Amino acid sequence: MEWTPTSLGRTPGRWLSLLAILVIAFPWLAKAGDEPQAWHEVRSPNFTIVTDAGEKTGRRIALQFERIRAVYQTILSGARTEPDAPIVVLAAKNEKSMKALVPWYWENKDRARPSGVFQEGLGGYYIVLQADAADSRAYHTVYHEYFHLLTKLNVPGLPSWANEGLAEFWGACIVRGEDAELGLSNPYQIRLLQEKKPLPLRELFAVDQASPHYQEAKKAPLFYAQSAAFVHYLIRGDETGARRKQLGSYLTLLQAGADRQEAATRAFGDVDLLEKNFMAYVARYPGGYYRVTVPPVPGEKNFSTRVLSRSESAALRPSVRPVLRPHWTASTRTRFARGGPRGRLRLGAGA
Ligand SMILES: [Zn+2]
Repeated sequence: MEWTPTSLGRTPGRWLSLLAILVIAFPWLAKAGDEPQAWHEVRSPNFTIVTDAGEKTGRRIALQFERIRAVYQTILSGARTEPDAPIVVLAAKNEKSMKALVPWYWENKDRARPSGVFQEGLGGYYIVLQADAADSRAYHTVYHEYFHLLTKLNVPGLPSWANEGLAEFWGACIVRGEDAELGLSNPYQIRLLQEKKPLPLRELFAVDQASPHYQEAKKAPLFYAQSAAFVHYLIRGDETGARRKQLGSYLTLLQAGADRQEAATRAFGDVDLLEKNFMAYVARYPGGYYRVTVPPVPGEKNFSTRVLSRSESAALRPSVRPVLRPHWTASTRTRFARGGPRGRLRLGAGA
């Protein structure tokens, strides 16, 4: 997530050509013995879903992405919502399939295992989802990960609490036909915060992606719950709207290059008072939500589907894994972009 693609294809759906090029450049990546599985590709006007959970699931997920895109375009008027590269969604049918796509999250037994990942990669933006993730709000992961794309486009480089808190706040919505409910609280997260001791806010502000609070399975749920509740408090917890304005100032200061702790002090004022008010909010935690009308979206008849060939399916995981891997070093990236020893990789070119 920390780096810029070397070259960006501009037409949605070009990713398969990218994949083909990757396979040509790295034929050794498709190991003998990898069991090919049937993957479907579903293309909607704004998304490409690639899934081994079946065509029906792929269509359902594509429709949810189109719907949430329409909702966010309505509520975030003025924000940039059109990416400069294709959005590819890899919807793994279960945890085993998810693990095969992003295995590094399973390498350490203490590591938090995500049901969704957002990653900017070569030639596009990638979202990896576990399609069967147990969640009372079935599309929470879809909305959460898509919101990461919007923050990336509009306010890049956010501290982890703001990045995850905003994705949780706007991702916690329910879309039913033409109605969407936004700004809902998550009862599980509230209970967790009421039972466990939240981090002091100054500590929360300092958490980054290398922090145990972000990475470890035992700590991450509390960090996510607190980030979500804190953003909830800032946006909805103060009827005068003062805290919401402070959040806006904080994001503006960060975009202007201010230090994170300094931006927090300048935007929020007395952090001890903020902490006291936030804890009082957690104790009473009001419900409620915003209701918005979902604008019309392209129906499923506008989607195209196909089954990936046996060789494409077999090559899929080994080809996308390097693209999905976070914190790639600059030298690895450059070597990869040049096509390795053969120099044959041409990203986004003529595909
Ligand atoms: Zn996230």
